[in-house]
Amino acid sequence: DLKNKSAIVTGSTSGIGQAIARGLAEKGANIVLNGFGDEADIEKQRVELEDTFGVKVLYSNADMRKPEEIRAMVELGINEFGGVDILVNNAGIQNVSPIEDFPDDKWNDIIDISLNSNFHTIKAAVPAMKEKGWGRIVNISSVHGLVASPYKSAYNAAKHGVIGLTKTVALELGEFGITCNAICPGSVNTPLMHKQLPGLAKTYNISEEDAIKNVLLKAHAIKQQVTVTDIADTIVYLCSDSAKLITGSSITIDGGWTAQ
Ligand code: NAD
Repeated sequence: DLKNKSAIVTGSTSGIGQAIARGLAEKGANIVLNGFGDEADIEKQRVELEDTFGVKVLYSNADMRKPEEIRAMVELGINEFGGVDILVNNAGIQNVSPIEDFPDDKWNDIIDISLNSNFHTIKAAVPAMKEKGWGRIVNISSVHGLVASPYKSAYNAAKHGVIGLTKTVALELGEFGITCNAICPGSVNTPLMHKQLPGLAKTYNISEEDAIKNVLLKAHAIKQQVTVTDIADTIVYLCSDSAKLITGSSITIDGGWTAQ
């Protein structure tokens, strides 16, 4: 039960983040949504969560590449909800390209959104968590935080970095009732995954269908894509009392990808 708790979920206007926000709202948490998208669609999502679960839901359009906007988002949560109890760093983008052609701006965006933003949200939220003596930080890394695939240099670098940050934060905050963990999904069925397909198909010179089967699920022992609710359920569990000693860990939800 997460009643009277509040959660910020970055990148929650789509895919995995949207499911995480829903999972936490279902348990009674107030939510700060964040991410890009059509304004009317986001407002619909916000109101639907409020109406369905009887919680308060706010929206911040903070760009995870911009530290001042990130701080404003965290302050919104603290001012409106009296704290940030749960912080889920989920926003992310992908770019698939051989390293010699990898665009500089894509490299910078990926490192900013998937790694630097986690530092800025955590830094801004931790004082409020310490005050309450309770907090849950979950960083969405990836199997690419543990192993690499070719043509994803920025993503692999950012996601490996997230795991280092996660371990450090866990060590620093253990004595304050705050846990920090990373989730490492394999191939998840989301818009981000769909957006990669043309690039993968082109790079490997195969069809998009074969790109799912032979590239995205190649390393899964269980040949199914992870669902967004599989991930949301794990985060709800990490917020429960039973998970109070799980900290600093990288939890794989990857169909066995990293077992080899
Ligand atoms: P998605 O594209 O469906 O959603 C990404 C979200 O991030 C959206 O809400 C988008 O608006 C937001 N976002 C993008 N740039 C932003 C910015 N600058 N500022 C604020 N928000 C921004 O992607 P998804 O598949 O749901 O991915 C979510 C997370 O899960 C990412 O960190 C991704 O790396 C990770 N992940 C995804 C997969 C997968 O197979 N889909 C696998 C492992 C890890």
